Amino acid sequence: MGSAVSKLIALPIVSAESADVDVQVEAQEVDGSTVKRLPRWLKKPLPKGGVNFTAGLMEELGLETVCDNAKCPNRSECYSQQTATFMILGNTCTRPCGFCAVKRGRPGALEADEPTRLAQAALRLGLKHVVITSVTRDDLADGGAEHFRQCILAVRELVPDATIEVLTPDFVDNPDAVAKLLEARPEVFNHNTETVPRLYRRVRGPKSRYRWTMDLLRLVKQLSPQVRTKSGLMLGLGETQDEVLEVLTDLRDADCDFLTLGQYLQPSETRYLSVVRYIHPDEFAFYGEMAKKLGFKKVASGPFVRSSYHARDMAE
Ligand code: SF4
Repeated sequence: MGSAVSKLIALPIVSAESADVDVQVEAQEVDGSTVKRLPRWLKKPLPKGGVNFTAGLMEELGLETVCDNAKCPNRSECYSQQTATFMILGNTCTRPCGFCAVKRGRPGALEADEPTRLAQAALRLGLKHVVITSVTRDDLADGGAEHFRQCILAVRELVPDATIEVLTPDFVDNPDAVAKLLEARPEVFNHNTETVPRLYRRVRGPKSRYRWTMDLLRLVKQLSPQVRTKSGLMLGLGETQDEVLEVLTDLRDADCDFLTLGQYLQPSETRYLSVVRYIHPDEFAFYGEMAKKLGFKKVASGPFVRSSYHARDMAE
């Protein structure tokens, strides 16, 4: 793991001891029960129109989006701009991540025509940058790498001018699977770190390893140096500032090009990990500055940033 980096500006210090308690989430009484109130910077106006076209097209073509399945807070904005992140390999994940709203369980069979349908959607949406992610498929020998490859090839054929970004699972230390996917030459290879090593097991469950994430990003650069690598973290899960900066250092050690940092939001109050802290926009700006100093080529850091939010701007 990399060494801690000195801080640029004074910020409230969050230590590992205090980070596990719910100290900065505002709460209020409504009708006799306590609800958590979002800070003002996490309220955004609803966009005007356009949402139904994107949602309808996905339904017509039988496609899944991570926007819907993960209850992304930017869904209305992105759909209204006729953009979305395709989620392939089904809608059921084999990992029990504590932050994610995607259904978990035993996945169904692969759909051989999914690559063609995905490419048709990309064409009809007029996408210039196509982002493809997936559920984790530990039940498949190659983790779904060949299906990723087929999806990229189908988009290349139908929308040759579009750039392509994949946001992949970790492929469980399987370099052959990664090499297979890279044969299709995506422009951007994104794999999220999600959180700091201390919280990895709690956030990503027992089947995931911090080391696999760093090794995967390093391997992609070794196999395909021209591919831009990208990773992201959710903040507000109890991580300390030093821990975040250490992860950023590790990502640069793995030659990661692009970084996204966003606020974790609990998909619903009945399940999933609680928000430990709402990170102020100034603190996101601080991390963004630090990331640029560490050498990331592009950085998006803010409360609503998600790994595919405005992904085209970052890829250009
Ligand atoms: S930020 Fe990404 S996941 Fe969220 S709605 Fe936009 S494209 Fe979908």
